[in-house]
Amino acid sequence: MTEDKNQPLRSIEELGEFALIDHLTAHFETRRSETLKSIGDDAALLDMGDKKTVLSTDMLVEGIHFNLSYMPMRHLGYKSVVVNVSDICAMNARPTHITVSISVSNRFSLEALEEFYRGVNDACAHYKVDLVGGDTTASLKGMTISVTAIGSVSEDRVVYRSGAQENDLVVVSGDLGGAYLGFQVLERERQVFEVNPQHEPDLDPYHYIIQRQLKPEARLDMVELLEALEVRPSAMIDISDGLSSEALHLCKQSNLGIALYEEKLPIDPTVISACDEFNLNPTVAVLSGGEDYELLFTIRQDDFLKIKGNPNLTVIGHMTEKTSGAQLVLRSGELAELKAQGWTSF
Ligand code: ADP
Ligand code: MG
Repeated sequence: MTEDKNQPLRSIEELGEFALIDHLTAHFETRRSETLKSIGDDAALLDMGDKKTVLSTDMLVEGIHFNLSYMPMRHLGYKSVVVNVSDICAMNARPTHITVSISVSNRFSLEALEEFYRGVNDACAHYKVDLVGGDTTASLKGMTISVTAIGSVSEDRVVYRSGAQENDLVVVSGDLGGAYLGFQVLERERQVFEVNPQHEPDLDPYHYIIQRQLKPEARLDMVELLEALEVRPSAMIDISDGLSSEALHLCKQSNLGIALYEEKLPIDPTVISACDEFNLNPTVAVLSGGEDYELLFTIRQDDFLKIKGNPNLTVIGHMTEKTSGAQLVLRSGELAELKAQGWTSF
């Protein structure tokens, strides 16, 4: 049932916890043969075969990680799954199952939660994962979401943050900075709306970057592509916090330095024009913005020809010895040191 403006919204209190769980999860299909027992018992039962199991959890708190004044509930459900699937992909694994736990106050209608679960279901269908459990509780204020994702990978394909070698190439999927600029646009419109609720913004020019913020995708397609190309990254991480911070994680865990090239960073033209408008430097947006959920990984130089020319993959630098530190080579040729929040010029 979608939200009908003429119908009063139904309160979740009148349903009660068990009816609510049934109501929200009744339409979820079981898509995977590994799912032996799904929602409805004390725990789910999964047959993960002879592969290794990958597990990851993320929590999303209203007011901290999302703002419902511009985040539609369906997108929120979708994104809650995506951020977890992305972590599974960053291990070079494939996601198979999720659990979704929510705490909500009685401010939330049944219709709003139905929309949330519609988004969860969209993501389950897109990434071919089964929802196999969760938990539902009341909260005094606001909504908190916790998703756990489970995936599988064979031992010879798994990739850690720690496996990079000196001279490995640093590669990134897709383009960067979009989600951050999308957030800037949405935040600006929210503030305008607070002053003038009649204001109807024209968001068409910002379609791509808003989409990047509200409906990101995990790069499962890249995990599949790399396997098809017979490339096993030496190290990998997903970009949830901005390129700088993720690059530093690779350095620290692989015990190496890194050199990234400003001119190589993949940035969409709409990100550049939005940066103009907000008086931001696109390189800063890429390094310090976040939530792009692209994959950052390293490959051996020998594998370069296998990925060369692929429009989804860009080589942006290489790993160096630890003593060289984490550097960004600017267009001017000058060096800047990468910091967790962006970079500082010498
Ligand atoms: P218990 O009391 O054993 O924790 P619950 O009543 O919380 O059981 O849950 C009953 C079943 O419904 C379990 O299979 C649980 O995983 C599932 N479940 C509960 N809440 C959710 C939710 N928000 N989304 C998906 N499944 C849920
Ligand atoms: Mg429970």
